[in-house]
Amino acid sequence: MIVKPKIRGFICTTAHPDGCKAIVKEQIDYVKSQAKTEGPKKVLVIGASMGYGLASRISAAYSCGAATLGVIFDRNGSEKRTGTAGWYNTAAFEEFAKADGLYAKTINGDAYSKEIKDKVIETIKADLGKVDMVVYSLAAPKRVAADGTVYSSVLKTTGESYTNKTIDLKNRTVSDVTIEPATEEEITHTVKVMGGEDWRDWIDALRAADAIEPHAVTVAYSYIGPELTHPMYFDGSIGRAKAHLARTAEEISAECGGIRAYISVNKALVTQSSAAIPIVPLYISILYKVMKAHGNHEGCIEQMYRLFHDKLYGASVCTDESGMVRMDDWEMEEDIQKEVSALWENISTETLGECADIDGYWHDFYRLFGFEAAGVDYDADEDVVRPIEGVE
Ligand code: NAD
Repeated sequence: MIVKPKIRGFICTTAHPDGCKAIVKEQIDYVKSQAKTEGPKKVLVIGASMGYGLASRISAAYSCGAATLGVIFDRNGSEKRTGTAGWYNTAAFEEFAKADGLYAKTINGDAYSKEIKDKVIETIKADLGKVDMVVYSLAAPKRVAADGTVYSSVLKTTGESYTNKTIDLKNRTVSDVTIEPATEEEITHTVKVMGGEDWRDWIDALRAADAIEPHAVTVAYSYIGPELTHPMYFDGSIGRAKAHLARTAEEISAECGGIRAYISVNKALVTQSSAAIPIVPLYISILYKVMKAHGNHEGCIEQMYRLFHDKLYGASVCTDESGMVRMDDWEMEEDIQKEVSALWENISTETLGECADIDGYWHDFYRLFGFEAAGVDYDADEDVVRPIEGVE
C-alpha cells in the first residue's frame, strides 16, 4: 500500500510504518548521543506509544538501560487500512530495543481496565519481579469504569465562557472562538478520565501484587502554561483533572509505603492530544517560533531525557516549592513569555506567517503519524502489517 496522510479535523487517519520507525530511531539516536543516567532498571510505562509516554520509554531504555514494559491502546494495519502510529512506534521500539539487548514487552488494551492491569502484573511477576518506576502518561477522551459507566472528558472552561483567538490550521486563518463552560457533570467526568483515580488504582494493584519496589518512583504529566491559556487549560475542565492528579501524587507519596510520586509539568508540544484543544495550537505555534529563535526549543524526547537525567535521577530530585518537577522551565522564562504575548496581541490571519511557526507546527503534526521523516521513500509500496511479538 502507498501510504499518504489523510487529515480529518485535528487527526490523521493514516500512519506510515517506516516513517514511524525512522522517527523512533531519531529519538533513540538522540538519547544514545547523550550522557547515561544512573536511573531505574525496570520501568512500566502506561500510555507508551506516542508523545511523552513513548519518549519516556525511550529515555528509560536508552539512557538508564532499563527493561521496559509498555501499555498501549493501538491497532495493527490490515490489508485495507493502516494501523495506528502508536502501533508502528511500538513495533519499531521493540525491534530496536531487542537488537540492542534491552528487555521490551508491550501489553495492548485499555489501561483503565482491570483485565489489562492483571495482564501487566502477571508479566511483571513472570519476567521482572518488581518494577522500580511507573510512568503514567495517558491522554484519553474516555474511560470505561469497572461498573461499565462510560466517562467522557471535555475541553471546556469552568464558570464563564471565554473568547480568544484560535487558529484554523488547515486554512491558516486566525479567528475568535468562544469556549463554553463545562457543566458540573462534565467536570466530574473529565476528572474521572484525566484525574488521578486510575493512577492510584495502578499503584494499589501493583502494591497488592508485590510487583513494585517499596522505594519506586512514579511520575504523571501535567501542564500549567501562561495566563492566556488558563481559562482553557489550567482553570478549565482539564485543569480540574490535573489538580486531582496533583493531589493524587501527594496521596501516593503519603500513603503508599516509600513510593515517591511526582507531577512533571511538561512543555506545550504538538501531540495527538494537544492538537484537539482550542486556542492551544495557536499558542504552541507562536511558542515554537520564539523558542526556536532563542535556541532552546525542545521536543518530547529532549524533554523526557532531561526529565530523567537532570530532574528525577540527577544528584537530587529537582522540584519547585509545590513539589512539582518543572520541565516547562524554559517555556515559562520571562523573556520567552513576553515575546509570546506581544506576538499573540499582533497575530491575525494577515500576520500569521511572521508571528507564528505554522510550518513547524504542521511538520511536527505530520511526524506524529510517520510523515515528513528524513530518508523515507513515501512513494514506495509499504507493508502496513507489522508484528509486535506476543501482541495482538
Ligand atoms: P499522546 O496523545 O501523544 O499520548 C497519549 C498516549 O496514551 C498514547 O500512547 C495513547 O495510545 C495512550 N492511551 C490513550 N488512551 C489509552 C487507554 N485507554 N489505554 C492505554 N493507552 C491509552 O499525548 P501526550 O501529549 O503525550 O500526553 C501524555 C500526558 O502528557 C498527558 O497527561 C498530557 O496531559 C500530558 N501533557 C501533554 C502536553 C502537551 O503539550 N502535549 C504538555 C504537558 C503535559
